[in-house]
Amino acid sequence: MPSRFVVRTFGCQMNEHDSERLAGLLAAEGMEPADGVDDADVLVFNTCCIRENADNRLYGELGRLKELADRKPGLTIAVGGCLAQKDGARILERAPHVDVVFGTHNLARVPELLRRSAVEGPLTEVLDQPDPDAPPLHLTALRDLPYAAWVTIQTGCDNSCAFCIVPSVRGPEVSRHPEEVVAEVEGLAARGVVEVTLLGQNVNSYGRDLTQRSPLFAELLRRVGAVEGIDRVRFTSPHPKDLRPETMAAMAETPAVCEQLHLPLQSGSDQVLRLMRRGYTAERYLGRLAAVRAAVPDLAVTTDLIVGFPGETEDDFEATLEVVAEAAYDSAYTFVFSPRPGTRAAAMVEAFVPPEVVGERFQRLRSVVERSALSRHETRVGRHETVLVEGPSRKDPTMLSGRTRQGKLAHFAPPDDNAAAGSLAEVVVIGAAPHHLRADWVTLVAPPRHRRRIPVQVR
Ligand code: SF4
Repeated sequence: MPSRFVVRTFGCQMNEHDSERLAGLLAAEGMEPADGVDDADVLVFNTCCIRENADNRLYGELGRLKELADRKPGLTIAVGGCLAQKDGARILERAPHVDVVFGTHNLARVPELLRRSAVEGPLTEVLDQPDPDAPPLHLTALRDLPYAAWVTIQTGCDNSCAFCIVPSVRGPEVSRHPEEVVAEVEGLAARGVVEVTLLGQNVNSYGRDLTQRSPLFAELLRRVGAVEGIDRVRFTSPHPKDLRPETMAAMAETPAVCEQLHLPLQSGSDQVLRLMRRGYTAERYLGRLAAVRAAVPDLAVTTDLIVGFPGETEDDFEATLEVVAEAAYDSAYTFVFSPRPGTRAAAMVEAFVPPEVVGERFQRLRSVVERSALSRHETRVGRHETVLVEGPSRKDPTMLSGRTRQGKLAHFAPPDDNAAAGSLAEVVVIGAAPHHLRADWVTLVAPPRHRRRIPVQVR
């Protein structure tokens, strides 16, 4: 088997973590991360299909690789993840220089598929259900960071939001056993990881497939938060309809659980929420938000919003603006509606909102969100915050960046003796912008705990 690989990731944190598992699989075969695409023998694309432009980006990228594939006959290209699950062998039709197509349910088979394609030529293997002999959740990850880690607690989704393709490509909800999750977190803590992010499509319904006893997610938060050495626990994403008082109590009473919540609203119009099949009204959403803010002081809240869902009127959109203003979000991911094949929303063609109307609404929403984010950040000026140092700032390498417990990115000048990634440090906030804070260094709280550097994966 060739010896150097690159895994390129498109999409969400779930995909980022799947890519760490793919890298772990390839490393277990004796392969090493390459320095870049030109240096690689194997290129693996872990794809996303949540929006149409993710499809277009991937096919564009594959098209550009044709020239490299012609130049390097030994290069092996594999495409997996959500888009591969959706399009299967069509990928080989559109990009015949691809060697292997695999889906979301058979990551563990990738080394075997690479070996087979070297002998048999291009092949596709996409399964309808998780491979029972090699569940992807049990794979060892080659993690990107030595001090922070994603931990998948659940895959798939049992909801049927009208715009969402995830249930059809990721399948129904499957929860990992809590003992297994806790054991993984203990193992990470033993290696010096101080922050974990629990991942699932709908973490609040975690465990429903394991037991009728609920709420298992609240229990899991408490158990993970109690693991010695873990200073910070985050999770994403909870569904607003399943956010329970027990979870709010666990967030409030578990010191390691960070004051951060991503609570996707999608729309502030009850009519649109009903068409989206979200299972809550704007009033119920705001009620839960008020309850969790009351339970968890200093909570930072972020959200997802879709503009131009089929049938969205000006009144519906203004209802969204009102809820967004009332919710006072710290940040929001705003998306233009993108019809995904096979979803209910994609069939509502007559109700599609004209693109120019969507574009104008999108800009209006962005300015409300930016104002909200800026004013939330301005309230932090003058405060002392503990940040987990991530390393040099991407925009200005003379500065360091770190995240507060609220998940806010802070940039600050390093101390004279610098501060290693993975340190916990106290800073004081001196300025605010919609997407970051500016801060001054105060003191080191704790040096990094990881003893050995876990290999950083090249993207
Ligand atoms: S909860 Fe809705 S939006 Fe989230 S993954 Fe499930 S179907 Fe998609």
